[in-house]
Amino acid sequence: MTVSAADREVNATHEGAESVGDTTIRPTTELGVPASMSARTPESSERDGPTTRGREELATAASVATDKMPHAILRWATEHYFPKLVVVSNFGPGTVVVIHHLAEVSTAVPVIHIDTGFQFPETLDVAWKLEERYGIQVQRVGPKLTVEQQAAKHGPALYDRDPDYCCYMRKVIPLEKALVGYEAWVSGIRASQTHQRQQANVVEWDTRHNMLKVNPLLDWSTEDVWEFIRKHDIPYNSLHDRDYKSVGCWPCTRPVKDGEEERAGRWSAFGKTECGIHLPQHQVGTSTDKG
Ligand code: SF4
Repeated sequence: MTVSAADREVNATHEGAESVGDTTIRPTTELGVPASMSARTPESSERDGPTTRGREELATAASVATDKMPHAILRWATEHYFPKLVVVSNFGPGTVVVIHHLAEVSTAVPVIHIDTGFQFPETLDVAWKLEERYGIQVQRVGPKLTVEQQAAKHGPALYDRDPDYCCYMRKVIPLEKALVGYEAWVSGIRASQTHQRQQANVVEWDTRHNMLKVNPLLDWSTEDVWEFIRKHDIPYNSLHDRDYKSVGCWPCTRPVKDGEEERAGRWSAFGKTECGIHLPQHQVGTSTDKG
């Protein structure tokens, strides 16, 4: 990447979505939009839902996404999708940067946190600090079963025996329910994090949830993210100062050693790299709700 986070910040501050109109517009198909999706004409004022989102609108999304400036991307998303827009955050370094950028556009976009019941106290502390700093209100959503109910029904420490199933009940299903009624969601994923995330687009069609997904930090490096956090003194999870490069639930997260990849401490006893919320339907470990 040739543009630093600091450069992008300047561009984002002084160049709005209007100033990116001369960039190459990528074909709508590159967004992964179903070919069967019908066009929404400029005259149409009716929001029919994500499956009828117009090609013209998505082409605009593509042009904004090509510039890869989070501020411009989030402004576009807010202008086109709010109040049907939502941010999903685990309060990792990527999503705190997204929340910072979004707060400069609007503090009205809801921020959802999936509270599995296995969160580190440090993670919940970040949520509180972000609410205080940006005047947002984090909406906590959780699974149907409490930790105790899950242990009674499926046995203790399911995460040690079948983490795909545990993630499915405690993350995937709660997010599916929380996204009902929205047309677009924003994540903080970055391409450098996992092989699957390298396949993502800055603005893409989420086939799992049948809605638009916006990944404004997709092409940022880890260094970009941390440079931005430090420069703007953004609240972050203090576990990152103790060698936790990526933080999830406490039973499935450990610190990483020098030379290990960013997410090496997640589900390290398994070959698992994703909880499932960022995977298409056919790649999620468990495809039926047994919960
Ligand atoms: S990360 Fe671990 S504890 Fe959390 S939902 Fe997934 S398997 Fe369960």
